[in-house]
Amino acid sequence: DSQMRQLIEKDRNHVWHHLSQHSGLKKQDPMVMVEGKGTRITDAKGNNYLDASSGGVWCVNVGYGRTEIADAVRDQLVKLNFFGSTTGTEPAAEFAEKLLEKMPGMSRVYYASSGSEANEKAFKIVRQISQLKYGGKKNKILYRERDYHGTTIGALSATGQEERRLHYGPFAPGFVEFPHCCEYRSQFGDVKDYGILAAKELEKVILREGPETVGAVIFEPITAGGGVITPPEGYWPAVMEICKKYNVLVHIDEVVCGMSRTGKWFGYQHYGIKPDIVTLAKGVASSYAPISCVVTTEAIFNEFLADGSDREAYFRDISTYAGCTSGPAAALANLKILERENLVENTAVVGEYLLNKLKDLATKHSIIGDVRGKGLLLGIELVTDKQTKAPVDEQVAIKIAGMCMQKGLIIGRTNRSFKFLNNTLCLCPILTLTHEEADFIADTIDQVLTELNA
Ligand code: PMP
Repeated sequence: DSQMRQLIEKDRNHVWHHLSQHSGLKKQDPMVMVEGKGTRITDAKGNNYLDASSGGVWCVNVGYGRTEIADAVRDQLVKLNFFGSTTGTEPAAEFAEKLLEKMPGMSRVYYASSGSEANEKAFKIVRQISQLKYGGKKNKILYRERDYHGTTIGALSATGQEERRLHYGPFAPGFVEFPHCCEYRSQFGDVKDYGILAAKELEKVILREGPETVGAVIFEPITAGGGVITPPEGYWPAVMEICKKYNVLVHIDEVVCGMSRTGKWFGYQHYGIKPDIVTLAKGVASSYAPISCVVTTEAIFNEFLADGSDREAYFRDISTYAGCTSGPAAALANLKILERENLVENTAVVGEYLLNKLKDLATKHSIIGDVRGKGLLLGIELVTDKQTKAPVDEQVAIKIAGMCMQKGLIIGRTNRSFKFLNNTLCLCPILTLTHEEADFIADTIDQVLTELNA
């Protein structure tokens, strides 16, 4: 109707959208979403979709229209909307306690409002420890090719994705890249101990830089936007040993994987990783409010108390919006839903089911080179030839995503990350996904690939 028409025109004329996974559809009317319920979302034209992208950017984990979260936020805002993060508030303390129960070994929660910001704060923690303990020398932060850590210049300096970085240098000094660990695109050819060899690449970079200069390494537990890359067998034990050997802190970026996305509370818990720092965002409050967290061990926290009563030793960091109570209030309500509805388990069970269905599709369609992922974070890598693994052109992935959308299914694509590879479809559905909905996802992709004769 005319009101919705006007809305679309307002959007077209005034809003500058962020880089879209759905940019292939931009030539048509801009998509303006107006309503969501559960796993489904409706646009301004009245089209209804199953959203297998959890809000386009993988964050609405418990689904749309949760009045329970909205009510909790409203009640908290009426009671106390804000007090600066230099002091405590009720929901901040309550959520920190509940969160830490899910993270044995971790002990302190530092609040922020986006994933990028949480990572920046973590870098500052590493840098301040370097000052306090190592005369400023152990200040480098290593990051992995293909991993994404955020949009701000510091976080982008720690991001291993060429396209995201393309126009934005010079980057912050002290950030050093090490090679990826995607077995499907192994740097060493077809080898037996790929995971160990990939871990050794990290050691080489630590040795090249000098271990006395390396403060921390940041990893995604499963590389999300860079191609849905699960770590190969043997990788994590070897990496942990290397980091311990050279006294390098382990920072795990759980912005995508955290809060049950991969079928455990946190991605790192699949691999026996003992992190020093964990950052969380997106799923913390299923993006009902902007909130992120830096979670550290007690040992890290204690470094900041080293000078006892000397205030100068405290973390010299402050952000206004960490004092908004809407964030932790939403996060608490979100956590209750995850627990009550057993969504960690559902994610593991339905994720496995969907993964197997996609593996079946891979035997039928020559375009599917690889299927991988964990829980409800799954990737389908598209190739022109299964043998050579030559990637399809970006336009092919865009076309497939567009055709899925016309059939009522929103899927994502990974970033143009590695040597401009942009050939992986990404499924990141709402965590309440049912087996029937998983069937719909697989069947729709099957139909589209059949129509394309792919
Ligand atoms: N880390 C990872 C792994 C991410 O995927 C993202 C967001 N895509 C970020 C950090 C940055 O989070 P934000 O967009 O909230 O700044």
